[in-house]
Amino acid sequence: MKVSDRTHGVEYAIRDITAYARKYKASGKEIIYLNIGDPVKFDFKTPEHIKKALVDAVTRDENYYTDSEGLPELRQAIVEKESEKGLDVTEDDVIVTNGVSEGLDMTMASIVDPNSEVLMPGPYYPPYSSYAKFYGGKPVEFKLYEDGRPDLEDLRSKITPRSRALCIISPNNPTGEVFDRKSLQQLVDIATEHDLYVICDEIYDKIVFDSQFTGIGKVAKDAPVILLNGFSKAYLMTGWRCGYIAMNSSSKKLAGLREDIPKLARVRIAANLPVQIAAVQALRGPQAHIPKMVEKLRSRRDYVVKRLNAMGMQCRVPRGAFYVFPKINLGHCWKDDQHFVIDLLNNTGVLTVHGSGFGSAYGAGHFRIVYLPPEEMLEKAMDKLERFVNSKQAS
Ligand code: PLP
Repeated sequence: MKVSDRTHGVEYAIRDITAYARKYKASGKEIIYLNIGDPVKFDFKTPEHIKKALVDAVTRDENYYTDSEGLPELRQAIVEKESEKGLDVTEDDVIVTNGVSEGLDMTMASIVDPNSEVLMPGPYYPPYSSYAKFYGGKPVEFKLYEDGRPDLEDLRSKITPRSRALCIISPNNPTGEVFDRKSLQQLVDIATEHDLYVICDEIYDKIVFDSQFTGIGKVAKDAPVILLNGFSKAYLMTGWRCGYIAMNSSSKKLAGLREDIPKLARVRIAANLPVQIAAVQALRGPQAHIPKMVEKLRSRRDYVVKRLNAMGMQCRVPRGAFYVFPKINLGHCWKDDQHFVIDLLNNTGVLTVHGSGFGSAYGAGHFRIVYLPPEEMLEKAMDKLERFVNSKQAS
């Protein structure tokens, strides 16, 4: 039977690669999963007060549909969080979603027409291009310098009359780069000059190591900024699926979206109510787990970066999130980054993600490692990787 062309092209390298892992596992061998950025799968657990809030809500029978735009109390708590970061936002401009993923889907659905172009940093988190393509648009990657700053000339050269939106992901996945205030300002200025929406993903806003995090709100003024954020990473609620869209209330240009995004929220009824009740506690309750998590991650990051550089895999020190994106010396050993990742899996059981899955223009020739696991597991993985690379390059 015919299936839609639209869905046929959907890709998500981070999970698509697990098909290879399943085959490997079927042979009875152990896999070290360094492919999915889920802290809760490792030694980072949902804080007790957030779990209790969820269980209590379910026990109190708060198990019905809630408002499509989200639970009012949660929308208010989100306004408080994002206002503190600098965004001008009122409750009316917040929509609670089933994860940032659904927020991104609704945003792309509302702004992308067939043949419109969506600018995104290369490399980027894969759903940005998948959703843009799904709605008939074309993802266009702009270049980042080695130090993570956007190459503004490259960006300008890629803007056309079909450009609709500029995406910012800071900290970025897969590079862990964080845009500083100056870069954010320059990107917003370019978007304003060309009448582009700014879609900004700040899901890793609390997971930043060496530099100060600056929210897009600080430089947004009245630009049409659509901020995406959620509870998966900082509040360790990955499996619960809770996120939100927060639109810049100072922007008149968002009038159309203010009407249309709620329509999409209504047609899918509502986000999960007990989870939203727990999310209120996540924002309003103790935050002590966050600095602890960041410190643990900092030492894991430092360990992995040191090992990679020592084995000759050029790797920058990421400033946020929990990924490294080293370069592969492909030489005569591997045809491309995907071949490398599959060969690494088949020889060692270490599962990573090929860089081209994050955009072929700038991701190719790299691979992404998640450094969430405890040190012993990372050490085992790095030892295996080192032996693998040395043996291949010696042959
Ligand atoms: N945005 C970025 C940049 C991510 O890295 C991820 C997950 O890895 C998501 C969004 C997905 O977020 P959620 O779990 O809220 O759907």
